[in-house]
Amino acid sequence: MGSIQNTEKEVCSFCRLPKAVPVQDDCNVCQESVCRNCVQMLHEDDFRYANERPEILSHARYCPRCFDEHIIPAREAYTETLERAKNVGFWTRTYRGTIPIIKRGRLEIEVKGGRDRDDILLRLGFRAAELGFNGLVHGVMASKKLRNHGYQKMEWEARALPVKVDQEKVDREEWREAHWRILSHR
Ligand SMILES: [Zn+2]
Ligand SMILES: [Zn+2]
Repeated sequence: MGSIQNTEKEVCSFCRLPKAVPVQDDCNVCQESVCRNCVQMLHEDDFRYANERPEILSHARYCPRCFDEHIIPAREAYTETLERAKNVGFWTRTYRGTIPIIKRGRLEIEVKGGRDRDDILLRLGFRAAELGFNGLVHGVMASKKLRNHGYQKMEWEARALPVKVDQEKVDREEWREAHWRILSHR
């Protein structure tokens, strides 16, 4: 019984060609046998700004079927949210002007672990966009030094209240100077 299974696993279940390395080559989702030519993997940047990534989007190896079923639609949704995130307006806590707010979120959102200012800002914008907001007010960004075996690195965090702003007003000249669009800080 065991030897029959082993024989089956030596052939890729997609292209039907024998696999060079028969061990540990299965799709991490459905466990179908998949060869080196057919296996699909995530790019390094896939879902990078997603704050919570479900397990199904975190595997190392996908067969073509599972990749089409899970990764392709998730990647499309992610890209759409990322585009909106780049256009989220960001106003700091010290901003004293008027902001054309239509609706306020109930709770502040917070993100941690950013590499730099742009990184943490886009993470925050992504979170806002995920929740359906296009603005962030009362924004605060901060960095701290982390010591790690003799070398230091900075870690950024940020928080703000997500809001819905009147995009037409924001786009008009008089508002333009007063806020940052997350995209312009990339
Ligand atoms: Zn194959
Ligand atoms: Zn699969």
